[in-house]
Amino acid sequence: MAIKSINPANNSVLKTYEYLTDAALEKALHQADETFRSWRQTSFAERTQLMNKCADLLEKDNRHYAELMTLEMGKPIKQATSEINKCAAVCRYYAQHAEKFLQDEIMETEASRSFVSYEPLGAVLAVMPWNFPYWQVFRFAAPALMAGNVGILKHASNVPQCALAIEAVFRQAGFPEGAFTTLLIPSDKVEKVIQDERIKAVTLTGSEGAGSSVAQVAGREIKKTVLELGGSDPFLVLADADLDKAVETAVNSRLINTGQSCIAAKRFMVVEPVAETFLQKMKALMESKRTGDLMDEACDYGPLARRDLAEDLQKQVDESVAKGAKIYLNGGHRNPGDAYFHPMILTDIKPGMPAYEDELFGPVALVFVVKDEAEAIRIANDHKYGLGATIFTQDLNKGEKLARQIESGNVFINAMVQSAPGIPFGGIKKSGYGRELSYVGIREFINQKTIWIG
Ligand code: NDP
Repeated sequence: MAIKSINPANNSVLKTYEYLTDAALEKALHQADETFRSWRQTSFAERTQLMNKCADLLEKDNRHYAELMTLEMGKPIKQATSEINKCAAVCRYYAQHAEKFLQDEIMETEASRSFVSYEPLGAVLAVMPWNFPYWQVFRFAAPALMAGNVGILKHASNVPQCALAIEAVFRQAGFPEGAFTTLLIPSDKVEKVIQDERIKAVTLTGSEGAGSSVAQVAGREIKKTVLELGGSDPFLVLADADLDKAVETAVNSRLINTGQSCIAAKRFMVVEPVAETFLQKMKALMESKRTGDLMDEACDYGPLARRDLAEDLQKQVDESVAKGAKIYLNGGHRNPGDAYFHPMILTDIKPGMPAYEDELFGPVALVFVVKDEAEAIRIANDHKYGLGATIFTQDLNKGEKLARQIESGNVFINAMVQSAPGIPFGGIKKSGYGRELSYVGIREFINQKTIWIG
């Protein structure tokens, strides 16, 4: 069986790789386990130096890494380059802060001394998606490695070149063999890897189905999981909002990575007095966005990462329209032979439609005209997902009050939802559990060991 790297812009096969044999898989797991024993003994100073070197390498060759990503999954080069720079930033962030985040924490008790010692667990398996093929991996790997764990990556099958480039950059930075390992394995081998006693925990970013199946296996094995799954983030626009800024943020959020982002704003609840103007401005801005040569910095959006993703998205749109949704801006999957999906706006979305119930993982904005804030909150929360949310209002007190009513892992007021090194990131409901980034993220895969001195 071969794993293929395919350029979604023209369907050409870029490279083909063989999946790992069972013997090679065994060797990789053995090496990771061996390396963990020595890696956990290294000082923070040593890890910091290597992690900063990794950041240097990413920054120095950012165009090279970005081009691999653009070719393999269709991200326009400007966005791809900024993703690489963000990976360098998360390496530097944890290089700088890991020691502080993991220092012993004194507990007030009747003991002569008692404290929590934050200790690594061992090899952590990361099952990762193709949409931000470097960022999703580095935001797991930088804290994991700085904490003294070792990382094992099972990346999405359509981004093997990115997966191998990430392993190579850690090695080039000077991390020992086995500190970070890419396994080219199909998803049906993941269960076996989780069952291996050398794997201590699992993190997965991807679809609800993949998350559920990985968590079931890990649950049986009593292994900790962190899940970062889908989202259908609401974006509330109140009557007093700065409408131009709201529209610009809405469109950027909906179109980032050609709409394939778990934290893209997907559902827009706009109160009646400003709804028509919002829609007109949103449509005009979306229409101004251009696709074209993905290597051109001016390119705004590309193809979806695979043709089947464009086909599935079109089906979700068609079914919603058949059930009464209205097309306000027409785009979609125009040519059955390619993976391009052009920006769209749908209105009149009702329960029972895929556009209401599910995640639309592509550039389709779903606009709900609501009579007031209460209706906006009701629709926002009437969803199985709870990842991020945005509120646009000039009344910051009201914004804060509404933020607390939204069922999600984060809310941004007058700003676009993002995942950034210094703030915890994750969801509730079917969006998953656990947190990545900040001090919270680095403590997920850690033995929080209590030490009591009588
Ligand atoms: P998947 O969830 O199928 O893929 C994500 C990762 O999980 C890949 O590495 C994949 O491997 C692996 N995987 C899939 N199924 C299993 C399984 N049963 N056991 C173990 N690992 C598994 O995403 P898709 O590419 O199919 O995208 C489908 C939808 O998922 C999107 O339309 C979107 O809704 C959602 N998604 C959400 C993302 C997010 O950021 N939250 C990112 C990507 C997708 P392999 O590629 O080999 O199948």
